[in-house]
Amino acid sequence: MTTIRLHNTRTRKKEAFVPLDPENVRMYVCGPTVYDRAHLGNARPVVVFDVLYRLLRHVYGPDHVTYVRNFTDVDDKINARAAESGREISEITAETTQWFLDDMAELGALEPDHMPRATQYIPQMVAMIEGLIAKGHAYEAEGHVLFAVDSWREGYGKLSGRSVDDMIAGARVEVAPYKRNPMDFVLWKPSDEGQPGWDSPWGRGRPGWHIECSAMAYELLGESFDIHGGGNDLMFPHHENEIAQSCCAHPEGDFARYWLHNEMLQVEGKKMSKSLGNFFTVRDLLDQGIPGEVIRFVFLSTHYRKPMDWTAEKAREAEAELSRWRAFAGGIDPMGGPASEVVDALSDDLNTHGAITALRKLYKEGDAHVFRKSAELLGLLTPELGEWTEDDVILHSTLSDEVLRERIVALVWERQDAKKSKNFGRADEIRDVLKEAGVVVTDTPQGPEWDVGPDFDPAKLESLK
Ligand code: AMP
Ligand code: ZN
Repeated sequence: MTTIRLHNTRTRKKEAFVPLDPENVRMYVCGPTVYDRAHLGNARPVVVFDVLYRLLRHVYGPDHVTYVRNFTDVDDKINARAAESGREISEITAETTQWFLDDMAELGALEPDHMPRATQYIPQMVAMIEGLIAKGHAYEAEGHVLFAVDSWREGYGKLSGRSVDDMIAGARVEVAPYKRNPMDFVLWKPSDEGQPGWDSPWGRGRPGWHIECSAMAYELLGESFDIHGGGNDLMFPHHENEIAQSCCAHPEGDFARYWLHNEMLQVEGKKMSKSLGNFFTVRDLLDQGIPGEVIRFVFLSTHYRKPMDWTAEKAREAEAELSRWRAFAGGIDPMGGPASEVVDALSDDLNTHGAITALRKLYKEGDAHVFRKSAELLGLLTPELGEWTEDDVILHSTLSDEVLRERIVALVWERQDAKKSKNFGRADEIRDVLKEAGVVVTDTPQGPEWDVGPDFDPAKLESLK
């Protein structure tokens, strides 16, 4: 069986991935807070963990992986949006949740097996908080319940590698008179009349942000599971707090064993921000006619642990390359398995850049079935993504002819070989015939690439001896 190696934030090392139960590999990824359209950065963890999900399904079998991604539908940003727009909270969260699902589907992301909403798990959160109080890890103060970081000094801060004292020195924490330690964080807080609230042993209130992931991961994946993911902006405090809550509520388990964090997305070299005018949503790009598959391709060309720079230039290049790939293999039935080079690249801590390089080689080699199957492991050329330009349909109708494709690939490589052995006469002869037939050959540093133009005439290929 393929060994997957993953960089574990917890140990800061690339480790061989050994699931607790290969019959049920379990992964939790923090999902969006639903009050607005997903911006382009929010799509990065979705695409990154979609590729990991696809790889796990490939290695362990599609029925042996459970992927959970939550929706945070109780949050003060949502309350603020409701107040300023005069709309119902439930209307805003339902609409935004559907937008998210629609937009991510356009990026070719598979839906996780479970997509729990925080508001559906309030009783489980209350139970977990009660357990933490009973074990001496949390306390009630002025209608709030707080997690006591001093009750778990040995574990708190391990993920992000800082001690509680360092955190206090460096953090801008909310200092509240009812906190025993400034780093103590809210598990439950009181709600006013106009705010969403649920009855609890501590009065009518609502959960703090972190507890939902601990409660939902426990309900759906158990006290120990394999992988936990999210953007690296969540490492502290969110993930640190999830660990504290879960490990103290369920000391018999070890919560998540492999922690994966994607780096942030930037736009044209700058942090995406409304004031710089480079802030946009996934939907903005789709509306401009950029196919979701192009967005996915651009994302995957950078390793997930490196900052990713979105540029219009990259999108143009990706579109050109993908249309060649679609012409080559879009209409082909995927058969057999993906190429081992692609599986190996992905198994090396999701080296998606390496996997794309391997795909380029497969494209040149001309086996459309293996190519297609390999591309699908990256979520590219998948049936869900459909066709995206009319031109492609015309191109691939010509090129779904496998015999022709093989003939062209053979000629392109014969020309390469002729050049290498300094047989320039033969090389030029092949070039001229390909040109006559409407095949465009471009020499790139990685080797020749070819495509058929609109005036492709396969009969002319036959004039070559
Ligand atoms: P939020 O709705 O802000 O909690 O974010 C949802 C997900 O998007 C989290 O996993 C974040 O880490 C991730 N995220 C937010 N901004 C970016 C960004 N600029 N680049 C990559 N991921 C991001
Ligand atoms: Zn979370």
